[in-house]
Amino acid sequence: MRRAFYSATIVALTTISLSGQTRVTPPSNKYSPAQDVELGQQAAREARQQLPLMRDDAVSSYVERLGQRLTAIIPADLEHKEFRYTFETVNVRDINAFALPGGPMFVNRGMIEAANSEGEVVGVMAHELSHVLLRHGTAQASKAGKYQMGQVAGAVLGAIIGGRVGSVVAQGTQFGLGTAFLRFGREYERQADILGAQLMARAGYDPRDMASMFRTIEKQGGSNGPEWLSDHPNPGNRSEYIEKEALSLKVSNPVSDRSGFVQVKSHLKSLPKAPSSEEAAKSTTRRTTDQEGSGPSGKLGPVQPPSSRYREYSEGDLFRVSVPNNWRELQGSAAVTFAPTGAFGQVGNQNVFTHGVEVGVSRNERHDLPEATHDFIQVLAQSNGRLSQRSDSLNAIIDGRRALQTTLANTSDATGKAEVIQLFTTKLRDGTLFYAIGVAPEQEYPAYEATFQQVVRSIKLND
Ligand SMILES: [Zn+2]
Repeated sequence: MRRAFYSATIVALTTISLSGQTRVTPPSNKYSPAQDVELGQQAAREARQQLPLMRDDAVSSYVERLGQRLTAIIPADLEHKEFRYTFETVNVRDINAFALPGGPMFVNRGMIEAANSEGEVVGVMAHELSHVLLRHGTAQASKAGKYQMGQVAGAVLGAIIGGRVGSVVAQGTQFGLGTAFLRFGREYERQADILGAQLMARAGYDPRDMASMFRTIEKQGGSNGPEWLSDHPNPGNRSEYIEKEALSLKVSNPVSDRSGFVQVKSHLKSLPKAPSSEEAAKSTTRRTTDQEGSGPSGKLGPVQPPSSRYREYSEGDLFRVSVPNNWRELQGSAAVTFAPTGAFGQVGNQNVFTHGVEVGVSRNERHDLPEATHDFIQVLAQSNGRLSQRSDSLNAIIDGRRALQTTLANTSDATGKAEVIQLFTTKLRDGTLFYAIGVAPEQEYPAYEATFQQVVRSIKLND
């Protein structure tokens, strides 16, 4: 079973409507702007080592130019002297972009290729820049609890590169923390849309192009939709309120020369096709492969049966769980795996485990439990190609709330042998899917089934 990394969301409310243009107020924040810069720069350094940046001057200077048009018109009340804005292009075809606290922004080539106009590209960048100016990353972290800066930077990276690629990069991070950074709740999304629309008008673009880009992105949605939408969920009526805001805005000095966009689009067509981010991740040498947990690196080998004595773990502010005390805790950015020595290690670039339980969260805001569970199984199947569902889901209980138990079959990447996966799912109050996945080789499964049940029974959610 490959270890999975998905995300939760945290929501807050802060937009205040006045007459005319909407006033957007940054949410409260325990971090200083200098700390935004510090952790954004740290994560950006890592991102530059992990992501295939475009070294094509025609493309990169174009994206920088668009970025500078936006940073030139930042309203004085949102200006932070410490912030350093950079705009880099990533050579992958997935439609995505992200910005880090304090200013670094990364735009995927696929985003530019998908855009129908320069205003659409600027729309996504204005939205991303708005998250930076409103300091949404650290505002969310302020709510998530108290963390060391090092943990926070690792979590930012986990949120960037973890995601759907299915590889572990951020290690030693606190459970649930990575979720707090680049994946925003609905109210932060609405703020970034509204401020983004205002920035666009000030920079000479029609704010409605932003709404149009979001529709373009939505149309590209496959089974799970582009990652950008998963990080920036539609708060509902996105196009409508952006267009309403646009009515109160005046585009002062419209940018008339859009030939750069046409040139860059045709130039991109002449280049070799960009890889998907998954392909890019596979070909990137990972420097942080063997740093799981605190002890020696994992190596697959003989596995002792689960101890009958249990040990309790507290994971962030999210939940407690008891597992056999000969299992180790392996932290990921949005999931934690408990496994005995010999049962975890690496196959290729992937972290795998053959025996044990992974507990984590997967953002899924719009579905009921059976649908969310179904979607989650599809996501698992993307990184575990031979996964199949063995039975319908049965009713179960996690910490007193309704849950589902689903049995899956898989072929282990590590051993090539059949393994059984018990998936337990329930929904948190914000709609996030909470899951526990028990994994054991088929032959040993009878000895593990009761252990999985006991582990799941011990879960206490702080939700
Ligand atoms: Zn957003």
